Amino acid sequence: MSWPKIESIVESLSSGQTTATENVKVALSNIKKNSQYQTVISTLDKEALERAKLIDLDILNNKKVAKLAGVPFIAKDNFLVFGAPTTAASNILKGFHAPYQATAIDKLESEGAICVAKANMDAFAHGSSTENSDFFVTKNPYDLERVAGGSSGGSAASVALDIVPFSVGTDTGGSIRQPASFCNVVGFKPSYGMVSRSGVIAMGSSLDTIGTFSKNIADTRYVMSIISGRDPLDSTTLDDSFKIVNKHQKMTLSKIKIGIIKEYLADDLNPDVKKVILSAINKIKRMGLVVDEVSIPSIDLALSVYYVLCPAEVASNLSRYDGQRFGYSYLEASNLEDSYLKSRTIGFGDEAKTRIMIGSYVLSSGYYDAYYKKAQTVRTKLINDFNQVFKNYDFLIGPTVPDVAFKIGEKSSSKLEMYLNDIMTVAANLVGIPAISLPAGFVNNLPVGLQLMGQIGKDNQLLDFCQEIEENIC
Ligand code: GLN
Repeated sequence: MSWPKIESIVESLSSGQTTATENVKVALSNIKKNSQYQTVISTLDKEALERAKLIDLDILNNKKVAKLAGVPFIAKDNFLVFGAPTTAASNILKGFHAPYQATAIDKLESEGAICVAKANMDAFAHGSSTENSDFFVTKNPYDLERVAGGSSGGSAASVALDIVPFSVGTDTGGSIRQPASFCNVVGFKPSYGMVSRSGVIAMGSSLDTIGTFSKNIADTRYVMSIISGRDPLDSTTLDDSFKIVNKHQKMTLSKIKIGIIKEYLADDLNPDVKKVILSAINKIKRMGLVVDEVSIPSIDLALSVYYVLCPAEVASNLSRYDGQRFGYSYLEASNLEDSYLKSRTIGFGDEAKTRIMIGSYVLSSGYYDAYYKKAQTVRTKLINDFNQVFKNYDFLIGPTVPDVAFKIGEKSSSKLEMYLNDIMTVAANLVGIPAISLPAGFVNNLPVGLQLMGQIGKDNQLLDFCQEIEENIC
C-alpha cells in the first residue's frame, strides 16, 4: 500500500475507516518487508502500539482528533526519543537512552503522530552516504548497489519506500537535500532557527537545522507547521512571526524572479543531470515568470569554508563524549587521561576522528587566524553576496547534487571525492537560508533533485512557490 496525503490519513482515522493501530502495524510491517534496504537502527513496536491504542480510544470517545492523529513517522537516530536508544549511528552512544526528548518529537507527539523507528545515518551526521554509520549502510530504493545518500539516508529511503508517510532529519551541509535527491522525495531544510534543536545531537551548531522528508509539498508544509516555531529551550529559534503556516498563499507568478546559479551549472555537473535540471527550469519558465542566470562568485569557496568551520564546531561538540558522564567508557583505564583517550579512541569512528583533528587544528592558537578566522570572513562575504542577489531575485535555483546516487564503496577511499558531493548544498547552511530538493526526473532510472533556495525567514514563500511548481510541472 502507498500512504495517501497526511491530511487524508487523519481524515480516514476520524471517519472510522482506519485506526491508529492499523497504521502503526502497516508501518512496522513495511519496515520488515523492506529490511534489505537497512533503513532503520531500532524500532519502537511496543511503545508505538501503546500510543496508537490510546489515540484509538480517544477517537472512540469522540475526543477532538489531533492534526497528526495516528500518523506513523520515523526519526533520524540523532533525535532523542523516549522508548528507543539514541545512538546517532555511533558506537560511542550504543544503547544510550536519553533522559529527555527532542522538542520536535514532543510537538509531533502532542499532535498524535507516532514514532515507529529510528533511522540509520552517518555516525554523528558526518557524511553523504550513510557509509560512515558505525552499524551498516542504507541501500538506495532505486538500486540496491547504490547509496541512499546521507547523512539522513535512512530517513530519506524510508519515505521513498513508502514505509511511512514522512520522516524527520537534520541538515548541516546538505544531509536532508542530498539524500532526498538520491531517493526521489521532497527534502526540506528550513531557515536556521526555524525548528528547535533542543534534544537533537549537535553537529555544527551554527549550521544545524531540522527538516522533513515527504512525498509532496502539502505534507512538508503540514508537518513543518507543527514542528516550527520559537522554543525557550533553544535560544537560536526564530520568533513565531516567521513560523511555517499550513496555508498555501496563491502567488502572482508574473511578478516572481528566479535566478539560476551559474556556478552550479559548471563543468563538474554530470551532463545528463544538467539536461534534467535545464528541462525542469524550462518548464518553470513556461509558468510565466522571469528566469535569469545569476553569478555568486564566492559560492565557489563555500565548500572550503564549510570544511573548516564544520569540523571546528564538530570538534567542540564532540568533546562532551569523554567516557565519563554517558556513552561508552573504557573501564580498564589506569587513570583519567587514559580513560579519555581509550574511550574516545575506541568509541569514535574514523570520520569523527578526522573531523576532531581538523577542527582542533584550525582552532589552535597558531592556525586560528589562517584558517578559522579566514573562513568566518569568507562566510560573511558569502552571506553578503547572497543578500545582494536576493535584492533582485525571489528564489535561486539549480541542481541539489552534481550527480546521481553513487555505488556503495565508490567514494569511500577518497574523502575529497565524498566531500565534493556537498558542493551545491553547503552554501544554504552557511548563509542560513531555507532550501529544498524536489524530484525533477531520472538519469538511467536514478533520481535527480532540483534545488530551490529562498530568503532567510521566508520559508512560507519558498513553500508557496514549490507548491506552484508541483501543481504546474510535476
Ligand atoms: N555531507 C556533509 C558533511 O558530511 C553534510 C552533513 C550534514 O548535513 N549532516 O558534513
